Amino acid sequence: MNILESALQNSNKDNKVKYGLSEKEAEKRYKKYGPNTLAEKKKISPFKILIAQFSDFMVLILLASTLISAFMGELTEAITIVSIVILNALMGFVQEYRTEKTLEALKSLAAPVAKVVRDGKTVEIPAEKVVPGDLVVLETGDRIPADAVLIESHGLCVDESLLTGESVPVEKQVEAGGRKNVNAGERNGTVYMGTVVTSGRGKAVVCSTGMMTEMGKIADMIQNIETEQTPLQKRLDTLGKYIVYGCLTICAIVTVTGILRGEKLFTMFLSGISLAVAAVPEGLPAIVTIALALGVQRMYKRNAFIRKLPAVETLGCASVICSDKTGTLTENKMTVRKIYTNGGFVEVKGSPLSSEGEFISLKRKIDPKNNNSLRLTLEIGVLCNNASMVRIKENRSFGKIASLVPRTEKWELSGDPTEAALLVAGAKGGCTQELLNESYTRIDEIPFDSDRKCMSVICENERGEVFVFTKGAADVIIEKCSKIYTSRGIVDLDEAGVKRVLKANDDMAKEALRVLGVAFRRLDSKNYRLDDVEKDLVFAGLIGMIDPPRKETLDAVRKCKLAGIKPVMITGDHKITAAAIARELNIASEGDRVLTGAQLEQMDDKRLEELVDEVSVYARVSPRHKLRIVRALKKRGHVVAMTGDGVNDAPAIKEADIGVAMGITGTDVTKEASSMILLDDNFATIVAAVEEGRVIYNNIRKFIRYMLSCNIGEVLTMFVGTLIGLPLPLLPIQILWVNLVTDGLPAIALGLEPGDKDIMMRPPRGAKENIFSNGLWQLIIFRGALIGLSTLAVFASILNFTSNVDVARTAAFVTLVITQLIHVFECKSERKNIFEIPLFNNIPLVLAVLCSLVMILGVVYIPLFQGIFKTVPLSLNDWILIGGFSALGPVISSFFKVNYKYIRR
Ligand code: ADP
Ligand code: MG
Repeated sequence: MNILESALQNSNKDNKVKYGLSEKEAEKRYKKYGPNTLAEKKKISPFKILIAQFSDFMVLILLASTLISAFMGELTEAITIVSIVILNALMGFVQEYRTEKTLEALKSLAAPVAKVVRDGKTVEIPAEKVVPGDLVVLETGDRIPADAVLIESHGLCVDESLLTGESVPVEKQVEAGGRKNVNAGERNGTVYMGTVVTSGRGKAVVCSTGMMTEMGKIADMIQNIETEQTPLQKRLDTLGKYIVYGCLTICAIVTVTGILRGEKLFTMFLSGISLAVAAVPEGLPAIVTIALALGVQRMYKRNAFIRKLPAVETLGCASVICSDKTGTLTENKMTVRKIYTNGGFVEVKGSPLSSEGEFISLKRKIDPKNNNSLRLTLEIGVLCNNASMVRIKENRSFGKIASLVPRTEKWELSGDPTEAALLVAGAKGGCTQELLNESYTRIDEIPFDSDRKCMSVICENERGEVFVFTKGAADVIIEKCSKIYTSRGIVDLDEAGVKRVLKANDDMAKEALRVLGVAFRRLDSKNYRLDDVEKDLVFAGLIGMIDPPRKETLDAVRKCKLAGIKPVMITGDHKITAAAIARELNIASEGDRVLTGAQLEQMDDKRLEELVDEVSVYARVSPRHKLRIVRALKKRGHVVAMTGDGVNDAPAIKEADIGVAMGITGTDVTKEASSMILLDDNFATIVAAVEEGRVIYNNIRKFIRYMLSCNIGEVLTMFVGTLIGLPLPLLPIQILWVNLVTDGLPAIALGLEPGDKDIMMRPPRGAKENIFSNGLWQLIIFRGALIGLSTLAVFASILNFTSNVDVARTAAFVTLVITQLIHVFECKSERKNIFEIPLFNNIPLVLAVLCSLVMILGVVYIPLFQGIFKTVPLSLNDWILIGGFSALGPVISSFFKVNYKYIRR
């Protein structure tokens, strides 16, 4: 059936359908049919997380040996060890559970939305709230929220590969009988939940939701989306294994040496295991996950929503950010400022949101009513348009004098801002949408897409005449024209005429205006072929609109450049317009090279790779060019962030290291391809996310440094102690305490460090850079050794003076804790020494350190704990010794400027 007929049929017979459901009715149905979701999502089970805390290999061995010691009568010790392990597990549990919850909550924020008509108004609602009977609005790039029957289709094509495996999009048309045969299944007039609109638009009435949909029947298959590990997490996993082997060897040596020396077999066995527990940084992977999750949260606060965890890491090494112009670098608030028609320019005055404004030509006011070419230009702009401008009448009531107060008019604009601007300009000239819709009925449409860069509608007027109205990029439109509308009527468009129009286009573009050409043609009859109407058009005019840069952009671009990141503008807009705006934003400077889509077509990938480092503006490109640009940049070794909104952008977004989708204007398809979504569509947000990415990576380096040097300190104390023939410097239970209680909290707190002030003033780190690079591992070993030696020194000297092993051990125990708690402050910076670092800007860290200090004092001075941890009270002299040796580490490292020395960047 003819699309027109069915559309008419639907609008006449059934106006109710167009009005959609009422909110009340929708609510009722929601209660009846339930949410429009596929089978219950698997919930995270707290129990599982808790169990996971104990399943660590080392912890299991520890528990086993504790059991043995319990049997051998060491009951208090066994109970204490178990308590410490449980305490540690609980801490891990709380952290991990919170992390999971946060991630979960964020996920639900990203839940899909659907556009439906409710009470006659198109609204966006969570897809979950869609109910049978809802009228859904489908546009290119949307994921269809439920199974629905089409009542309107304009070239609607749907990718149903998810259901059928067939990757070629299927064209969908309204079927005769429409909604009445809902159950017919396999029909061309039905669209299915989860499939994607690849082009065109349409409207459909929902027939089934949730598990009743076709997708519901195969729901299980698509439920299993896993969370990826980031590269860093993977690398740490491997590293963890090596550390385990290394430590086990050392522990074995310590144990055997001890036994040979005549220590009790069992004590040595337990020491070996405790040491292994201490040495293996088992908390590290968990803390890395926590830090990344915190990063996700921080970025979310700055409007960047992370879809894939690895992006948190990759963001920190971004070296190029390719950004769309319209809406990302600029506000996407278009206002028509200039019109070229009949050989002359007309200025358009008035506010962007009001229907009032004047048209000025050659300093004189002109009225479009008396100027055919201007009126025609405005009319085409209004007719070839899918935005809407609705008048909201407000009757301000002031009691009796109500009639004296003039009615104020307010307009509500919706739709593509480019098109909305045309409506406003039309309204200023008296060509309102309301008025024109009375005289013209739209019968067909060729939708806009950024590849073709134009759009046409076919309309019939009251007299039954049929017209094509086309608008699009000026150069595209002029190609399709063979005539031009002038004051002398319609005349042939010769080469000189084309040149004049293109010159006018360039002049407008130089003023950073986005220029659209409009044209039309009368068709002989309704028997046209849609793919054959955009030709032999009559050129009517050019319309130029400004789109001011976002005010944050300039600053963000500056920040990028300082941070060694190259901002690149990619736009479908005209070369000159693009260059003008790029200059305004400092992305490019006068005379810089601008590459156009046409030029890209001409060059092969190799040539593009040669040029790609020089170019920062690409104009008149199509989405497929974006893919080539990303590839070329990646070939040159860049880490690329790339934005996009349309369906066709999805491949480029997928290919980019960091695919960035627009939260507001982006289509579902691009969002799903992306690793990050900009909730405010703002370029500055990408830069903010990069900054956070860098901070997080640095913080991860900080606590890895802390945890590993502490562990080295512990191992060295025990290892060297046994090797040189001292008694055990620390008892197993003391090592466990240090490792499980003292290390954990401060390390987590390091993940909360605010960023260094100059973090965006350094070049990005290399993508392949090792987490230990730039001297980090030397730093770790050096400071770890100092911690170990200080502890041993205290132990040996007290043993020497007093021959009291208990006092020496207690002092060594305290020294170990205190050196570590001092060291955590050194880890706040890789470039400053402890005397230059602001110590109190991370409150959680200060609290964590205080907490550990109080606990260690408790262990030493509270009699109950003295029994358990085999500690004795320390004298002032002991404390002086402890203080002296604890200060040694930081003093030596600042004296030799180790922090500066190792870091070359
Ligand atoms: P960008 O989003 O990078 O600014 P687009 O691909 O949206 O570029 O637009 C490319 C060109 O297509 C614009 O310069 C304009 O001339 C034209 N254009 C944009 N929107 C429309 C539309 N709705 N109808 C017709 N032409 C359009
Ligand atoms: Mg656009």
